[in-house]
Amino acid sequence: MPEEVAAQLQAHGVAVRADEARRVLAHYLSPMARRDAKKRPLGKALKAEVARLFDLARLEVLERATDPADGFVKYLFRHADGALSEAVRIPLHRPGHFTVCLSSQVGCAMRCAFCATAGLGLQRNLSAAEIALAFAAIRDETDGRVKGAVFMGQGEPLANYDQVMRAAAVLSHPCGGRIDARMISISTVGLVPQIRRFAAEGRPHRLIVSLTSAIPDKRRTLLPIAGRYPLAELVTALEAYQEACNNRVTVAWVLLRGVNTGPDEVAALRALFGHLRLRINLIDLNETARAPGVYARAAETERQAFLDALTKLGFPVVRRYSGGQTKHAACGMLASTFQERSRRDRAAAKSI
Ligand code: SAH
Repeated sequence: MPEEVAAQLQAHGVAVRADEARRVLAHYLSPMARRDAKKRPLGKALKAEVARLFDLARLEVLERATDPADGFVKYLFRHADGALSEAVRIPLHRPGHFTVCLSSQVGCAMRCAFCATAGLGLQRNLSAAEIALAFAAIRDETDGRVKGAVFMGQGEPLANYDQVMRAAAVLSHPCGGRIDARMISISTVGLVPQIRRFAAEGRPHRLIVSLTSAIPDKRRTLLPIAGRYPLAELVTALEAYQEACNNRVTVAWVLLRGVNTGPDEVAALRALFGHLRLRINLIDLNETARAPGVYARAAETERQAFLDALTKLGFPVVRRYSGGQTKHAACGMLASTFQERSRRDRAAAKSI
C-alpha cells in the first residue's frame, strides 16, 4: 500500500516520503482524506507524476443502470486500453449501507457451463489500481456507506491472485478504502494451489468456494476447471485454510433443476465436507444466453427439500438473493452486452 505506492514512484525516479505516499493513496481512494489533502496539498511535481501513473489505470463510467425492483446498480467501465469491465452496487438490509461486487478480470477463462462471463473468454487481468479505482468510482457517487466488497463479478479472482490481494489490501487500508478486511470476500471456482497460498499467507478476507456439485463427474461437467483440481484436493486445501485461518468457508451452490439438488449430492457433501465448518449459500440460477434451455431454475419444492436436507447435516444454509435481474446485474450475468449493442446500433444507423 503506501509502501508500494512509494516503491512504484521510486521506480519512476520520484522519491516520496512515507507520509506523502500515504497522502497519494488517500487522494485517490478516500474522499475524507481528499478533503484533508486540500489543507496539505501534494507537491506539484509529485502530483503530476502520480497523475501520469494513475492515468494508466484510469476508468470511465460508461453506463450505470439501476434495477427499480431492488436498487441494484450495474456499472460499466471503460479502461484506458478500451477494455470493458463491470461492477455492481448492492444495497444491504440496513438503509444507506452497500456492498460492491467487483470484477477481477476482463472476461474469464474458467468456462463454467451456466455462466455468462464464460462466453467472453479471458481478455486480460485487471490491475490492483483498476480494481481499487472501480471501487472508488462507485463509492464516490454513493450517498451512504460502502461496507464491503465481494469479488464475484467477471473473472476468477484467484487466477489474478497478486493484483486481487493488492487491491483487497488497498480497500481495507486506513489510508485507502477503509473497509474491514473481513468484509472483503474472495469467491473462487476452487483453484487449489491459490487456496493453499491464501491459507499460508493467513489472509483475513472471507473465502467463498463455488462448489455447485460434490460429485466429481458432475462437477467436471459444470465447472471444467474441476478436471484439473479434483474434489479430494480441494477438500485438503480447505482443511489447511481452516487450520490456518480458523474461518468458516462459505460454499456457493447454484441450484440447477434436476441436476444438483438430490439426495446423492447431500450424501456426497456429507462424505467429503462433513468435517469442515461450512456455511452454504444457495443461489437461484439466472438464465443467460450461454447454453440456453440446458439448465433451469430449481422448482420451489425441490429447493426447499434440498435446503432442509443440508440443514439436517448441520450446515447453516441461506438462500442468496441474486438481484439486479432486469439490468443483467445478477449472479453470473455479468458479460457486457455493450459491445454487442453498439454493433447493433451502428448497423441500424447504416440501414437508415
Ligand atoms: N470465478 C469466481 C467468481 C465469479 S462467479 C467463482 O466462480 O466463484 C460468482 C458466482 O456466480 C459463483 O458462485 C458462480 O457459481 C455464480 N454464477 C455463475 N453463473 C451463474 C448464473 N447463471 N446464475 C447464478 N449464479 C451464477
